[in-house]
Amino acid sequence: MSRAGRRSKALHASNGHTVTGCELLRRKRVRVLVLCVCGALSLAVILALSLNLATEPSISPHHQPAADIKRDRLSHKPNKNSVAQVKKLAAQVDGTRLWETHLRPLLIKRVPESTGSQTIRQHILTQLRSLSAGWTLEENSFVSSTPKGHVTFTNLLAVLDPSAPRRLLLACHHDSKVFAPDPKDPRREFVGASDSAVPCAMILELASALDEQLKVIKHQRSPVTLQLVFFDGEEAFEEWTDTDSLYGSRHLAELMARTPHPAGSTKTSLLEAVDLLVLLDLLGAPDPLIVNHFDDTARWFDRLIAAEKRLHKLGFLTSHPAEQSYFRKDFYLGPVQDDHIPFLHKGVPVLHLIPTPFPVFWHTLDDDEERMHRPTVENLTRILAIFLAEYLSL
Ligand SMILES: [Zn+2]
Repeated sequence: MSRAGRRSKALHASNGHTVTGCELLRRKRVRVLVLCVCGALSLAVILALSLNLATEPSISPHHQPAADIKRDRLSHKPNKNSVAQVKKLAAQVDGTRLWETHLRPLLIKRVPESTGSQTIRQHILTQLRSLSAGWTLEENSFVSSTPKGHVTFTNLLAVLDPSAPRRLLLACHHDSKVFAPDPKDPRREFVGASDSAVPCAMILELASALDEQLKVIKHQRSPVTLQLVFFDGEEAFEEWTDTDSLYGSRHLAELMARTPHPAGSTKTSLLEAVDLLVLLDLLGAPDPLIVNHFDDTARWFDRLIAAEKRLHKLGFLTSHPAEQSYFRKDFYLGPVQDDHIPFLHKGVPVLHLIPTPFPVFWHTLDDDEERMHRPTVENLTRILAIFLAEYLSL
């Protein structure tokens, strides 16, 4: 007999025959038994489901597979800020704080291993510790062979949410070039104002200005977080070569490439979690001309152009003659070797924000506070604040 036959027989019995009292009692017992079995089965199913939910990891943006991370990076869309948001963000950048609190303490000789280097690293850490967003800070020290022998370098790393699947890196170098003192005035030292004290101060001001919004995206567990990087050892000790330069960035790119991310992953590294490296260098002189160096990040360079134009029209940029003065696509003077190179060679998308041609005082004792142009530095910081707000959905 097939199963179909058995089902039709049961149906016929319940629809036609006369039943005795004894049979009624038997049927009641059967019904009670069936109800009990069904109840027990239902309980078992509910229990199994809840156990399954407790042991299976929940699908959240913080547990994305590698392929999804790359796909999300490529399809990442900037958030469109309203005029009111742009005005608010621009007003949050404080030019006085940028100059007096963040920049001035950086304007000292700070070659690797010097007391000056230690002092400015403490300054950077103190500023970041004072913010409410709650940065995870790390002093990452390592020893490298240099033309001067073995030297200890220290990169400073600040991550908003270390567990986030993806990161936007905002970077500069904190070391100053080893420089012979002025023979006419031996007390005069190379302080590398544009190279790269101003870019470091701009990054500190961005972290300060956007503190409240950064705190919010951290608590919302946004899938893209912000990492600040202050490289040591960008400068060569002697002539620039592949081995005498970029000590900090070469070390960090290697370190991130062999650090699993998310923690414990056997498939993906922290380097693959980097959406974009935005590197600032040689900024501070008036009228910088910054070009796009890489086709794959052209759409992000376009966001900088758009932010510059928007802020200009709203009257937030001072000493800014035309709506598109800084970020340009109408000329190209060639590539520049800098801290982005080790990341670029490992496939990380890069925005290299460096003026070409270089400032006229580049690698001279004149690269000091007097040659810096405060309105330009404030303008660039406002443009970057809009860029970060768009990228990170602040
Ligand atoms: Zn330099």
